[in-house]
Amino acid sequence: MVRSPNDYRTDVWVDWCPACGNYGILAALYKAFAELQLDPTSTVIVSGIGCSGKTPHFVKVNGIHTLHGRAIAFATGIKLANPNLTVIVHGGDGDLLGIGSGHFVALGRKNLDIKVMLHNNRVYGLTKGQASPTLSKGLKTKSLAQPNIINNLNPIALALVSGYTFVARGYSMLSEHLKNLIVAAIKHKGSAFIDILQPCATYNDIHTPEYYRKRVYFLEEEGWNPRVEEGEESDKLLNAIKKSFEEERIPIGIFYQNTLKQTLEESYSQRIPSYFKILPPWQKIAKDDSSPILDEKLFEKMFEEYIVKVEKG
Ligand code: SF4
Ligand code: MG
Repeated sequence: MVRSPNDYRTDVWVDWCPACGNYGILAALYKAFAELQLDPTSTVIVSGIGCSGKTPHFVKVNGIHTLHGRAIAFATGIKLANPNLTVIVHGGDGDLLGIGSGHFVALGRKNLDIKVMLHNNRVYGLTKGQASPTLSKGLKTKSLAQPNIINNLNPIALALVSGYTFVARGYSMLSEHLKNLIVAAIKHKGSAFIDILQPCATYNDIHTPEYYRKRVYFLEEEGWNPRVEEGEESDKLLNAIKKSFEEERIPIGIFYQNTLKQTLEESYSQRIPSYFKILPPWQKIAKDDSSPILDEKLFEKMFEEYIVKVEKG
């Protein structure tokens, strides 16, 4: 059966505000899934809390709407339990870079094959527009009583220094371009991150479609080559970090892609050769009488130096 973008839609009413940038992200996601012909039974979307947290409700694949800031932790468990699944995290800037920032950094270090899509609208939309970690200091969006007094962080730079091996930025209103980024991220083996610029029509009156229309440009049109070859890892990384700080003109596209690093799953399979074939949840850990299965010889070998033998008599 050939699946169309429509085949990935659920019947759940999409209740984001009119003109919300999330609609463009959802459309790009449907198109990317259809292009890759993803099997819904082996695809999982994991979300946290926020407007973006509703994404799994609208996509006909496995989905789980988890706790605030904990989507990456759930996704990590899912991927390690079954490394053959395609696992995608959707989270907002408050969710992934505020309360969830520790998990965000940890995923990059692991280079576990999970895709993270940041719905970056620079406010906490679901809770009425407070300043999020990506709103610049000094800006006053419409529901702030006074300008923001906290420095912002740069999601692309944070992903790069954390170790993500695929780092890109898209724009929700350029849905076809965003679809191509999602396809490339899913095809990449390793931790992938897409910073998706997403206007919040209700609470962010600064970063509007008009604001982005004047500033956004395509990296690929300026000859940017994100692919890392042997020996140029640090140069490419530093260039990408520098690029991510451009603000007057905002680059979108793939900033950095490194296929030279081993994924965590590959590291596990070197230790446990059956890892991809006999998945951890399917491994038998008890006999029929419920007593644990234990290789006594291996156990003794592992703890040889700690075993105290008591002589009888
Ligand atoms: Fe979209 Fe903002 Fe409305 Fe949330 S509050 S649904 S981000 S427009
Ligand atoms: Mg937000």
